[in-house]
Amino acid sequence: MAVLKGNAYGHGGVEVARAAEQSGAAWLAVARINEALALRIAGVQLPVLVLGTVMPEHVPEAIVQQISLTVPHPDLAREFSAQAAASGGMLSVQAKIDTGMGRLGVWAEEGLGFLRLLKQLPGLRVDGMFTHLSSADEPQKTTTDWQLDRFDRLIAEAGQAGLRPRLVHAGNSAASLYYPRSRYDMIRPGIAIYGLQPDVDAPLPPGFKTALAWKTRLVSIKDLPAGHGVGYNYRYTTTSPERIGVIAVGYADGFRRRLGNIAIIRGRRVPVRSGVCMDQCMISLDDVPDARLGDEVVLIGSQGQACLTAEEVGRSWGTNNYELVCGLSARVPRVYFHEENNPDAASSQ
Ligand SMILES: *Cc1c(COP(=O)(O)O)cnc(C)c1O
Repeated sequence: MAVLKGNAYGHGGVEVARAAEQSGAAWLAVARINEALALRIAGVQLPVLVLGTVMPEHVPEAIVQQISLTVPHPDLAREFSAQAAASGGMLSVQAKIDTGMGRLGVWAEEGLGFLRLLKQLPGLRVDGMFTHLSSADEPQKTTTDWQLDRFDRLIAEAGQAGLRPRLVHAGNSAASLYYPRSRYDMIRPGIAIYGLQPDVDAPLPPGFKTALAWKTRLVSIKDLPAGHGVGYNYRYTTTSPERIGVIAVGYADGFRRRLGNIAIIRGRRVPVRSGVCMDQCMISLDDVPDARLGDEVVLIGSQGQACLTAEEVGRSWGTNNYELVCGLSARVPRVYFHEENNPDAASSQ
């Protein structure tokens, strides 16, 4: 089950869905009903599970579009059932079990009663049961084994009662890699399918490649005299004559509005000067005398010998690679390359 929520972690939901389909994914997962509907409108036919909580009024279109919904508690199960029965259709659902995340789901110890209820409710077909792990990206902690023990007890009880759903799943990227016991019938990797690591403590095994690079262009070059302010509120002032370039990326693209950002141009890391404006920001070109208008500027990815990973940039923003890529805004054009014609893949080999 390829996890494509948040516009496929900023990579573009529909294109990633197609790539996942071609690569053998059996299911897709999103967080919101509108993300699932967008995949259907684009013609994606794989089974889709909505991981988040969907309001009951969406049940009729979920049935028509063959979208599976997560049921996180008995009240919603009853409402889903009423809606499904009223529309005369069958809704595919997956039971959410809380084994320790403290978020959505029925406590594992109450899971058997929940499965029994789901089976009795008209209009619902229970296609799966799943849990989510709190700390699989910290493989040194014991939390994950404790959660999986609770899940295993429920799976055994459900099996004895003849209520074990066809698909039982638990593992996000980190768990799938670091806890083979979490793989069950299916895994739910998100971050790893984009070639990004779940955590500094949970690196990806060899063979994974980062899918995304973030690039812009140098759109202006100007020589500023010493003591000249740069940008809004002069959050940077030149101390000597300095060549300043303007690049076409701003916080409306998802580039964090902070001091101290870095960009790569002509294979060299250069500092962003002053704050980040909505649509552009300024870089120092003193160390890059050969910079020319139109040059490619890399914000995430590599160019020549220089490299900026989503992990490094995310950390410098006080967050992680997940939030960074999810924050790439809709106006940033996504350009797709297949492995065989990817210029980066070719030049980095
Ligand atoms: C986001 C999410 C995943 C994927 O997590 P990664 O850490 O990106 O692999 C899996 N399951 C659920 C329920 C999620 O919300």
